[in-house]
Amino acid sequence: MARGAPGGGPDRARCAALRRRLLAWYRANARDLPWRRTRDPYRIWLSEIMLQQTRVKTVRPYYDRFTRAFPRVEDLAAAGAGEVLKLWEGLGYYSRARHLLEAARWVVREGGGRFPETAAELVGLPGVGRYTAGAIASIAFGERAPVLDGNVKRVLARLFLVREPVDEGATEARLWTLAAALVSPRAPGDSNQALMELGARVCRPRRPDCTVCPVRALCRARAAGEAEALPARRAARRALPHHEIVAAAIGRNGRYLFGQRPLGGLLGGLWEFPGGKVERGEAHAEALVRELREELGVETAVGARIASLEHAYSHFRITLHLHRARISRGRPVPRFHTELKWLLPAQFDRYAFPAATRRLLAVLGRAKTGAKR
Ligand code: SF4
Repeated sequence: MARGAPGGGPDRARCAALRRRLLAWYRANARDLPWRRTRDPYRIWLSEIMLQQTRVKTVRPYYDRFTRAFPRVEDLAAAGAGEVLKLWEGLGYYSRARHLLEAARWVVREGGGRFPETAAELVGLPGVGRYTAGAIASIAFGERAPVLDGNVKRVLARLFLVREPVDEGATEARLWTLAAALVSPRAPGDSNQALMELGARVCRPRRPDCTVCPVRALCRARAAGEAEALPARRAARRALPHHEIVAAAIGRNGRYLFGQRPLGGLLGGLWEFPGGKVERGEAHAEALVRELREELGVETAVGARIASLEHAYSHFRITLHLHRARISRGRPVPRFHTELKWLLPAQFDRYAFPAATRRLLAVLGRAKTGAKR
C-alpha cells in the first residue's frame, strides 16, 4: 500500500476508507451521552469545555447539574461567578469556569444569544482553542473542521505511523492535516467524534485493543508492531516541582477565616485558608506567621498541626499543612485575597473550595476540637 499521496499528503483512497470504517463503527458503537442527544451549540460548547483534560465519567454529573441550573446560555450569562465556581467545584482547571462565564456573556451581549457558527469565529471566544472550536463547529453546525487533542494525536500517530514526537510543532501541523483529511464531508461531527471515541475506548494509551479496532486493517503502527510505542514525545517529562504550603485555621466564635483567591490567577475565585509557600530554610510556624502578616496584616500565634496532605496540580505538587492559629494583634484585611469571610462550618457547602481545601475541611470537621476560643 502506498505510504502517502505524491507530495507527502495523506493518501486519498486510504483516508476515504478510514472515514467510512470509523463512521460505521461510531454509529454502531457510540456511547449514549447527554451532549450527543443535542445539536444545541450551547450544550455542545459546555460539554467540550468540561471534557478538556477530564474524563467523560467525571464530566457527566457536572454537565447535568450545569444544564439544570443554566438551561440556556442567557441563564449562564446572568449567573454570578461564585455560583458558577460552586457548580464547577471539584472539576479542576478553574480558569475554564471563568472563561465559560466570560464567553456566555459575550455570546449574549454580542450575538444576542447566538453562538458564532464557524471554527474561525469560535476560536475567538474565551477558553476556546482550535480543538474546541473544531469540535463545536463540526458537531453543532456541520462544518468540515478537524479536531486534534491528545486522544486524536495518538490515534493518528498510530494509524499513519508518525514516529516523530507529537509535541513538536512540525509534527503537530502534519497531524492537523491528517485530521482534516479524515473529516467526513457529509458527517463532520460524527467523524470527529468517531476519532475521539476510538482514542478513548479502543486505541488507548496503553494496551490498545487492536483486535476489535474497526481500522486495524489500515493501521500502519499495528502492521509495524509499533502500536504501543507510539505516540513518541520529545523528552521524558521532568518531575513536577514540589512546594511545601502552610495554611491557618484561624477560629473565632465557631467560625473560620477564609480568603477568596483573585479571579485571574490559579484557582481564581475559590475560597481557601490563608497561608502560603514555605521559603527555603523556614520552619513551618515561622513561614505561616510571615504569610499571615503579608496576606492579612495581622500578627499570629501558630498552634498545633491539624493535618498534612499531598496534592498534585497540572504543573506542580504540594504538601499542604494546616495549623491552628490565633490572631494576637491586628484586624485581618485582604492584602492578597479579593475578600475575607468568617464562615461557620454549616456554611461551607455554599462556597467553592479547591479540592485540597475540601479535604482539609473534612479533617477539620472530624477534629471536633471546635473553633471557639
Ligand atoms: S489497530 Fe490498534 S493501534 Fe491501530 S488504530 Fe486500531 S487500536 Fe489503534
